[in-house]
Amino acid sequence: MQDLIERAARDLAGTRRAVALTGAGISIESGIPPFRGPGGLWEKIDPMEVAHIDAFRRDPRKVWDLLIKGMQTVLAAAVPNPAHRGLATLERLGRLQAVITQNVDGLHQQAGSQDVIEFHGTFAWQRCMTCERRCRSDELDLTEIPPRCECGGIFRPDCVFFGELIPPEHLVRAQQLAAECRVMLVVGTSATVHPAAMLPHLARGAGARVIEINPEPTPLTGTVSDYLIPGPAGPVVDALADAVAALQADSGGQA
Ligand code: NAD
Ligand code: ZN
Repeated sequence: MQDLIERAARDLAGTRRAVALTGAGISIESGIPPFRGPGGLWEKIDPMEVAHIDAFRRDPRKVWDLLIKGMQTVLAAAVPNPAHRGLATLERLGRLQAVITQNVDGLHQQAGSQDVIEFHGTFAWQRCMTCERRCRSDELDLTEIPPRCECGGIFRPDCVFFGELIPPEHLVRAQQLAAECRVMLVVGTSATVHPAAMLPHLARGAGARVIEINPEPTPLTGTVSDYLIPGPAGPVVDALADAVAALQADSGGQA
């Protein structure tokens, strides 16, 4: 695996146009479980029952009780891990232009990444479904579920539910970054949720090198990605950031 990390470091050190696409897997080592896979939430509840906007409109209390309250508790306790910090380091080194994340946990920003596209929005903020007023999630009064705005409207997390569109400014910027990058790091995503899953295809189609970091192969492996570094994000991205810093130091910062 060390060979692959060094190969990825050389790929990154050869460009200033790299981006990362991240998913739930990068935050598992921070204590946030993924929804998919064995033991995941989607084995117990149908996502269409709790994560679709129609389900929320039909029964906001149920979605707050079964999904949102639990997520808020888990997210409040989570802190960035070495993978989030490694990507922030790669940005500081001038190698990574931006992180496009499907996560709603805010951990990339907490780790120090400056340019983060929250493709699926964020759980850090709530917005009133009637007057659009926004409120920080940690300042929300949860004595009544669903929580309500002063105007009487219902608060919802400022994220993208199934059945909703990606905010156009995020979609356009992510597509542009994917189409123009020379290297795309795809970290901790099963690449099955669209339209995020098409970003690596777009990058590859435009000639970029696509590098996956994931303990398991994904539908991209062996087709869209050039290679997979098969391991958990924390130690791999940490080692990758160190290796890029070392290459840069060796070449007097000119790599
Ligand atoms: P996913 O659950 O479909 O896939 C997770 C991937 O992470 C898998 O491929 C798995 O093999 C991999 N993985 C497991 N352990 C890992 C590790 N230690 N390091 C690196 N990778 C690891 O996730 P997805 O593709 O992001 O799609 C899920 C959707 O659910 C996303 O839209 C996301 O917004 C949402 N979600 C977000 C969070 C969060 O904000 N942290 C948590 C759960 C779900
Ligand atoms: Zn309101």
